[in-house]
Amino acid sequence: MFRSKFIKRGCYVLVLGALTVQGCMNTATQGTQTKIQTSTASVPKNIIMVVADGMGPAYTTAYRNYKDDPTTPQVDPVIFDDMLVGNASTYPAAVSGYVTDSAAAATALASGIKSYNGAIGVDVNKQPVTSVLQQAKKQGMRTGIAVTSQIVHATPAAYIAHNESRKNYNALADSFFDLRINGNFVADVMLGGGTDYFEREDRDLVASFIDNNYEYVDSYNRLAAVPAGSNVLGLFAPVGLPPALDDKRRHRLSYLTEQAIKHLENDRGFFLLVEASQVDWAGHANDIASAMAEMDDLAVTMRYLKRYVDAHPDTLVVLTADHSTGGLSVGANGQYAWKPELLHNMKGSVESIARAMASQDDVALFVESQLGFSLDAEDKKQLTALADVADEMERWKVIKGFLDEKTHTGWTTGGHTGVDVEVFAFGAGYTAFVGQLDNTDIARNMFRYLSQHPTRAEFKNSVSSGTAPSATVDTNVEKQDSCDFKSDWRCQ
Ligand SMILES: [Zn+2]
Repeated sequence: MFRSKFIKRGCYVLVLGALTVQGCMNTATQGTQTKIQTSTASVPKNIIMVVADGMGPAYTTAYRNYKDDPTTPQVDPVIFDDMLVGNASTYPAAVSGYVTDSAAAATALASGIKSYNGAIGVDVNKQPVTSVLQQAKKQGMRTGIAVTSQIVHATPAAYIAHNESRKNYNALADSFFDLRINGNFVADVMLGGGTDYFEREDRDLVASFIDNNYEYVDSYNRLAAVPAGSNVLGLFAPVGLPPALDDKRRHRLSYLTEQAIKHLENDRGFFLLVEASQVDWAGHANDIASAMAEMDDLAVTMRYLKRYVDAHPDTLVVLTADHSTGGLSVGANGQYAWKPELLHNMKGSVESIARAMASQDDVALFVESQLGFSLDAEDKKQLTALADVADEMERWKVIKGFLDEKTHTGWTTGGHTGVDVEVFAFGAGYTAFVGQLDNTDIARNMFRYLSQHPTRAEFKNSVSSGTAPSATVDTNVEKQDSCDFKSDWRCQ
């Protein structure tokens, strides 16, 4: 089938108060698409920063194809197409070269300061730097995070705490409680995984938060019952949340985001960090089925945020990635083909299929039903033979490879790549994010908006990007490598 897509190149100059923004962007001209960046308000009351960890440009292309209705002549736009405003470079501080990790990238996105790979909210000299979330708290706004990793993982940690190493999960969890800004906790709402770090033998941080009037919940359903406007600690898994394909709620990020906003809304405004953490984990695992499922959770989250901004035009939403992961390619091995439709009926993650298949009477039938597409005799033979492989990881690798072969998906690495990432923005003040940016510009723009925020007047002498808040910061903590950073992508 011949498909065509007409792209029109549009360039413009926007003048916004003293700020002039120039930008060019590709605008799909299909009739169904409507650009949604309509707000002209210059200073947002609320800021929602969304990080899709690992979501390089190939992921959004792949997701558009994955959602496409093949009976129509064009590839239909998805929610991301309506929000795209630019592109950002991601390189870390020179000492770490051109390819960033999530910690250095999160520090750049949160604080506007480039640092070394592994740094959480500290500069190359290991000195703490202020994040936009901390600045919002300093100005008396409400603050929160909603993520699908453990809440002490690199991205959320860089918005809340400071540590010389992302590996120090327990110390970071301690900081979430110990660090205070003007006597207040840094984050009012914290939703994600991580009971392993907050309920430890040496310290029960859950109990400490409860004693300080936080509502604590450990199930999605209980979260819905917490009265609006509460301070909430919600930890729904020992480490990260289950993959979207295995979770009771496949769109759990959207749910957590909605719940977080319910508790953050107030007259003075709020700052919320949302992270689709596991796009990155799917990329590290080279698992296209999970990558698309995590992207779908993110797409539903962005649709919710679009509706929220329609109703609350004083809110800014910015979405970007910290880097790309896995070197995903849409098409592989010289084949001019990509078949995402094979991934539409997955019943669970490849990980869970590999785990469960060994105990099945009819392995081929079981795998076929879990993958959701018909297998031929040769496929069945190959997958049945897998049941005899004792190592679950081996089975998992073979099934992932099988899906790559069937869909013509390629990967170049189990790590990150140094390509630029897309920037999406809408709502109040979105124009500052148009065009080619560096990841540090995203934080700088947010600091500028915070410096113009009505709450700023109360803190005239305290605002400056890159300066530590007046809070106790301990970077000299003992290393606690509770995660195997060499072999477990959940740590990276
Ligand atoms: Zn990663």
